[in-house]
Amino acid sequence: MTAISLEFYPPKNDEQRAQLDRTVRRLAPRAPQFVSVTFGAGGSTLSYTPETVRSLRQDHGLDAAPHLSCMGGTRAELRELLQLYRALGCRRIVALRGDLPSGMARMGEFRYASDLVAFIREEHGDHFRIEVGCYPETHPQAEDALADLRHFKAKVDAGADSAITQYFFNADAYFRFVDDVRAAGVGIPVIPGIMPISNFSQLRRFSEACGAEIPRWMAKRMQAYGDDAESIREFAADAVAAMCRRLLEGGAPELHFYTLNLAKPTEAVLSRLG
Ligand code: FAD
Repeated sequence: MTAISLEFYPPKNDEQRAQLDRTVRRLAPRAPQFVSVTFGAGGSTLSYTPETVRSLRQDHGLDAAPHLSCMGGTRAELRELLQLYRALGCRRIVALRGDLPSGMARMGEFRYASDLVAFIREEHGDHFRIEVGCYPETHPQAEDALADLRHFKAKVDAGADSAITQYFFNADAYFRFVDDVRAAGVGIPVIPGIMPISNFSQLRRFSEACGAEIPRWMAKRMQAYGDDAESIREFAADAVAAMCRRLLEGGAPELHFYTLNLAKPTEAVLSRLG
C-alpha cells in the first residue's frame, strides 16, 4: 500500500469541527503515517492548531504533527508552543517561515524557516523529526531557482530530516528538483505534496498565490466543464492519480495530501491508486 500522510487545517467553529471529524473518520482507515495541522500566524489563531493536534491525537488516535511558522511569532511564543507539543506527545514538527496575513505588520524574531529549524534543534535536540517545505516550481519570492535551492539546502544543514513539496501538477518539475537537490548533496526524503482538486476557481486562486502552475491542458479542460462540478472532480481525480502513479514509479517515497478538510477529493485519488 502507498505510504501517505494527510494535511488538515484547524477548524475555527463547531460546523468546521464537525466537518473535520467526518473527514478524519472517512480517511483514517487509509492508515496515514501521520497527519499534520496547518498554522496561521498570530493572535487568536494561535490556539487552534494545538487544540486540533490534541484532538486528532487523543480522540482519533492519529500521529498528529503541528505546522509551526516563525513569521510574526516571538521566540517566547514559539518556545511555549514547542513545549506544549512536546507535552502532547508530538515527535514531529513541520517547520515553516509562513506568510503574514494581510494587514498584519509584526515581523517576528526569525526571518527564514532555516532560523526556526535551528531554534528547534537548539531547544529540543533530536526530540522532533523536522519536516520543511520545498518548491519544485520555485518559491514565488525567491530571487531565482538556484538561490531557492541554496536556501532549501540551508534548512537541511540547520537540521531538517525530511521535506514536503508545495503542490504541483507536473511530475517532471518534481523529478528535476530531486535530481538538483541530490546533486547539491542533500539526501533527505522529498515527499510530493498532492492537491486533490474539488473546485477549479478556488484552485486557481490558491495557485496564483503560491506560485503553483496549473498546466494549460488541465485548466482548459476544467474551464470547459463550467459549473459541472462532478465532471471536474472526475477529470481532476484521473489526472492527479496518473501523476501520483508516475511519481511513485519514479521513486517518490510517499505522498502527502492537502485535504482542505474534505474526504471525497483525496479518496477519489487514493481509490484510483488502488
Ligand atoms: P523559507 O524556507 O524561509 O523560504 C522563504 C523564501 O525566502 C524563499 O523564497 C527562499 O528562497 C527565501 N530565503 C530563504 N532563506 C533565505 C536567505 N537566507 N536569504 C534570502 N532569501 C532566503 N504557511 C502557513 O502560514 N502555515 C502553514 O501551516 C503552512 N504549511 C505549509 C506546508 C507545506 C508542506 C508547504 C510547502 C508550505 C506551507 N505553508 C504554510 C506556506 C509557506 O509558509 C510559504 O510558502 C512561505 O512563503 C514560505 O515558507 P518556507 O518555510 O518555505 O520559507
